[in-house]
Amino acid sequence: MAVHAHPDDESSKGAATMARYAAEGVRVRVVSCTGGERGDVLNPRLAHDPAVLDDMPEYRRREMEAAARALGVEHTWLGFVDSGLPEGDPLPPLPEGCFALQPLEVTVGALVKEIRSFRPQVMTTYNEEGGYPHPDHIMCHRVSVAAFEAAGDPDQFPDAGEPWVVDKLYYDVGFSPERFRAIGEAMHDRGLVSPFDDWVTARADRPARTVTTRVECAEFFERRDEALRAHATQIDPEGFFFMIPRDVERDVWPVEEWELARSRVQTELPEDDLFAGVRKVRS
Ligand SMILES: [Zn+2]
Repeated sequence: MAVHAHPDDESSKGAATMARYAAEGVRVRVVSCTGGERGDVLNPRLAHDPAVLDDMPEYRRREMEAAARALGVEHTWLGFVDSGLPEGDPLPPLPEGCFALQPLEVTVGALVKEIRSFRPQVMTTYNEEGGYPHPDHIMCHRVSVAAFEAAGDPDQFPDAGEPWVVDKLYYDVGFSPERFRAIGEAMHDRGLVSPFDDWVTARADRPARTVTTRVECAEFFERRDEALRAHATQIDPEGFFFMIPRDVERDVWPVEEWELARSRVQTELPEDDLFAGVRKVRS
């Protein structure tokens, strides 16, 4: 079970890993905490399209369906409302009723219910900084960690279904400076200009995340790209995500990286499989 803040996050964070497991016959379900209602249109081709602007929530629902199909995964909405990315100095207050302002007993209860009904062996989410400092991403982290802990405890949320213990919890480490540095260097070596130099420099001082798990998934980069393109209002087909020449990516960085945050099973680090140490047969 992959818990994400907005529709489109599942396609930019760990998407090829999910597509790989789904292709291997693992049931994979994406949970989107919010509907992405406050996302701007980031694709310049659709930015002034009145049909899109009139009904963003419906567009984003349909984009999400197409992305899930491309990845071969199941999908469910947790049902909260996008908090938007506050901008300005000072930052404006978050909009009333949004996901990031919901009390934890409400949001955690909702995710515990999903966990107890889907019964995942492994969960993925973002690190405590949200991976990216959007209030919904930080909230997604807090809710996921709390729900991971609560789902197996019969005393917590007794009305949310039979307790279910999830074996492992991972944080996505997709946007590591090492990855963009390696890809940038490979582009320079091939006489190409890397668009990532400034991005890498800007992140040079950030503490590195601990990568525990590298999942081979280059075969599924096309599925990931198809899923990204399905989010037509959110992804510029000539933007950041499509600036990496795919042959370079396959050669230099054929994996997606993860940080094992909690484990209730024995596993030896580093791993190459999110299911390492997890029992094979579901009870
Ligand atoms: Zn997001």
